[in-house]
Amino acid sequence: MRLAVDATIKTTTTENVIAETPTGRPDRVAFAGAHLDSVPEGPGINDNGSGSSTLLEIAQQIQELGIQPRNKVRFAFWGAEESGLVGSDYYVSQLSTSERKNIAAYLNYDMVASPNYVRFVYDGDGGTFGVKGPNGSNLVEKIFLDYFASQNLPTEPTEFDGRSDYDAFTAAGIPAGGLFTGAEGIKTAEEAATYGGLAGVAYDPCYHKACDSLTPVEDGADAATYAALGNTYSGDLVGNLNTKGLDEMSDAAAHATLTLAQTTSAVNGTEKGSGTPSSSNYQYKGSRLIK
Ligand SMILES: [Zn+2]
Repeated sequence: MRLAVDATIKTTTTENVIAETPTGRPDRVAFAGAHLDSVPEGPGINDNGSGSSTLLEIAQQIQELGIQPRNKVRFAFWGAEESGLVGSDYYVSQLSTSERKNIAAYLNYDMVASPNYVRFVYDGDGGTFGVKGPNGSNLVEKIFLDYFASQNLPTEPTEFDGRSDYDAFTAAGIPAGGLFTGAEGIKTAEEAATYGGLAGVAYDPCYHKACDSLTPVEDGADAATYAALGNTYSGDLVGNLNTKGLDEMSDAAAHATLTLAQTTSAVNGTEKGSGTPSSSNYQYKGSRLIK
């Protein structure tokens, strides 16, 4: 067989953007990250404009509301995720042992407004998929599950399968968790009954395509799918974003970030708690932290 390839290979430079609150305990960092890049095929409004804009809004609200976090909050807008988790891998590889231990937990937001969405929460305790996150990931999962339960919003577990920027963190033993609304996977009939949308159709039919944009999908093979999706989510579909899903998921993201920012307990149950390092210290009612 002869194979002709028209390609260019070159070394290029990209950057992570990291920002953190000036105040809060630096040895109990609440870390939230989202990748800022998209695949070359399209602008990536869902993958991952949805996650990175969620982080940006949380950061702005912390400032506008004058929140003084007990623990430092750090935000990362990762570069080159789509090239193989390059930015987050590099960042974690450069952490010293103490810098690594100073991260209480890492929260990952990669695709949180899929047009045919399901509310997926990473399976931190391995209860469904048998793959646990590092010690403490069960507590991160519980923050999300308790929040969604308080809002009467059902969720599904999703596996730590190494497909996003949490991977370097979990590999380094840092507790992690996060949210996801689905990519190329196909929505089941049961999920459609619970979450609306279309069964037998991908959670994001424009995943890694040019149509992952704010422009309405009006032609090509996906047009009929999007017309039908638009009907089931009356008015909530804007281009490739499900704004209802984005609203629900970004509220949960803000809740988890603030919970970790204000908690006095240690996420990983080791030496960093100023209170008793136990899961029973995570006490909140609805979206409100009691402690
Ligand atoms: Zn992504």
